[in-house]
Amino acid sequence: MNEKELKLFMKKVDKKPLPKKWDDFVNKITIKHNVIHKNRAVCTCTNCNNKFDTGKIKIGDLATCPHCKNKYAVMGGYLYYRGQSFEESVIVCQKINKQIVVRVIEIYTYFNRIKGEMKTTTQEYARIIAGVGTFLSDATYFFMGHQHIYHNVKNSYWRKYEGCREYPSLRAFPYNKKRLIKGTNLEYAPIDEFLSENYMYNFVDAVLLASYPHFESMWKMGLKNLAKSADKFKKTGTFQKVYGLSKSLLPFMIENNIDYRDYQVLKIIKEPNFTAMKDFRNVNLNRLRKLNKKVRITKHSAICAELCNHEQKDLDYILKYTKLNKLVKYKQIVNNFYLYKDYLKFIEKLGFDMTDTKYLYPKNLKELHDKYESELTIKQNMEIVTKIYERFLDLSNYIYENDKYIIYPAPQFESFEEESRMQHNCVRQYAESHANSETEIYFMRDKTNMDESLVTVEYRDGLIIQQQQKSHEQTTKEQAEFLNKWLKFRNKKRRIIFEKPERTLFVA
Ligand SMILES: [Zn+2]
Repeated sequence: MNEKELKLFMKKVDKKPLPKKWDDFVNKITIKHNVIHKNRAVCTCTNCNNKFDTGKIKIGDLATCPHCKNKYAVMGGYLYYRGQSFEESVIVCQKINKQIVVRVIEIYTYFNRIKGEMKTTTQEYARIIAGVGTFLSDATYFFMGHQHIYHNVKNSYWRKYEGCREYPSLRAFPYNKKRLIKGTNLEYAPIDEFLSENYMYNFVDAVLLASYPHFESMWKMGLKNLAKSADKFKKTGTFQKVYGLSKSLLPFMIENNIDYRDYQVLKIIKEPNFTAMKDFRNVNLNRLRKLNKKVRITKHSAICAELCNHEQKDLDYILKYTKLNKLVKYKQIVNNFYLYKDYLKFIEKLGFDMTDTKYLYPKNLKELHDKYESELTIKQNMEIVTKIYERFLDLSNYIYENDKYIIYPAPQFESFEEESRMQHNCVRQYAESHANSETEIYFMRDKTNMDESLVTVEYRDGLIIQQQQKSHEQTTKEQAEFLNKWLKFRNKKRRIIFEKPERTLFVA
């Protein structure tokens, strides 16, 4: 059905009246769309409009109206200021020009506060054309995942709906099943057979499914699970054209009664390999397609499935060093993908030869992962120790003293730990930024008590941006004056950096 045909057909549906007993059907539903309004000693039933004595009835109860005998919720004064409404969507199955159409209609009842009574309106908002698809009208809109229906909308435009709302499972206006399919191409379709084996589907589901051109042939061939996705096969012609697969695969497909997901995998692997089909059942198919271009995925399905299930960036990282055709033979990676990724990162940082297969595919992955992890930690600590000492040399011309105090740059890694222990402050985390020249950390001491921490100073961009005392005490006036003088000294004095000797010179 092209756009023009669709428009024409929708006009025919517009002209087709709803079934004769439609109003009775609506009344049967809306009779439940009522409440009992309680005003002190008097109750009013919105269904029959009769009044009766409240008796023991309380707001919030479910009570039976003594006149119409229906059971309704009892509401108080808030019925008048907040209102009340009910809604239910139903379907009407019709046949127009041998074409089955399912019309979805909302029945909406609301409390009219001026007249003090319930009012009902109906609005058709969706149509399912069997074998074609589902269409929504202007009356339907979605807000935050919820479907809302405008009423009193004249449907003029229908848009295709690909979402997953299950309109066919709504309450249906009673119809004769045989009469519905009589004269259509579904008259002899295996609908009853299908329903007897698939209790999750109702008659309307089955009719809609059976309307797709390949349903019947799939069912009869024995592709019973695949037939449930008959709507996804739109091409016509040979087996190869319809399924995009060689017909030689048909016996395999039937034998395993494959479903649509299996079919998608099969389309990639293109060979009757049950293990691979199951291994790839839950993987990201786009990644599987990519792998398939580079390696024989069915031969290494467990590993390829593992590789497909991880983030592309992690996979890319691993493939930066390894070759896919070698990686798929490396069994230790199964269920150990992240361990392996970390392992590669460790040996990369430790400076291993990343082209050497004996490092790339170790026999005892777990053991070496742990070993290199601790080696890396030690190496990184060593680096910091060296850097901090180099920093001390760089900054040592800012050492400053008077009779009482002295201030000097952090001399070594351990001094950070010591300082933070004595002061209970967080100087330890500065060790790294100090080592990396992002900030400068100085220690101020009392010259008569050099072993004890006094003030820790952080200097950056010409300012003391932090000064920490033991347990966050305040600096005394005397200490503050000393720090001020040092700051002037620090800012005035040009930084003299002696060039570092080339380390390679020492190697020989
Ligand atoms: Zn009543």
